[in-house]
Amino acid sequence: MTSRVACQIDVGRGLAEGARHVPSPNQDARPPGASIDLIVVHGIGLPPGEFGGPWVEALFLNRLPWEQHPFFKSIEGLKVSAHVFVRRDGSMLQFVPFHARAWHAGASSWRSRTACNDFSIGIELEGADEVPYEPGQYAALAALVAGLRRAYPTLAPDAIAGHSDVAPGRKTDPGPAFDWARLGRELEALGRA
Ligand SMILES: [Zn+2]
Repeated sequence: MTSRVACQIDVGRGLAEGARHVPSPNQDARPPGASIDLIVVHGIGLPPGEFGGPWVEALFLNRLPWEQHPFFKSIEGLKVSAHVFVRRDGSMLQFVPFHARAWHAGASSWRSRTACNDFSIGIELEGADEVPYEPGQYAALAALVAGLRRAYPTLAPDAIAGHSDVAPGRKTDPGPAFDWARLGRELEALGRA
């Protein structure tokens, strides 16, 4: 556990301090009156299981070279994004301001509300379902979640779910490798700081 300080959020701009800001075209306005009620945690690697390359950023910017890999070809034309991408080293890229709608959850439901993108913040961790996530990723995620809860009081402490929880049967990320108890401990430690 490295970070003991919540991430600062600029609510006016909807941006997280310390993240590199890389605006994605894959965003639009949340529905009128929608509040931010949920955080959705994802895992992604491009190609699946490979880390460290430029491809996730390229995907969220609609610049993935579809011809370069059979997996890329299999998702050709896909237009997706997340608010924040946390790399293996814990560094963060922000693609969509928090007040806007990122395109991360797809067909989904949470507590009988559908279309989770309307009311959620999507955070992608660079990873794979069966590969342990890095300590720096838990630290960065906990700091970000703590900062978001402070900045957006509509985010209740239990309003955090995996993509697999809001799209069961369709999505498996962040996978069994994601240690929810560890995230909880790190958030508790931040709360005591
Ligand atoms: Zn996902």
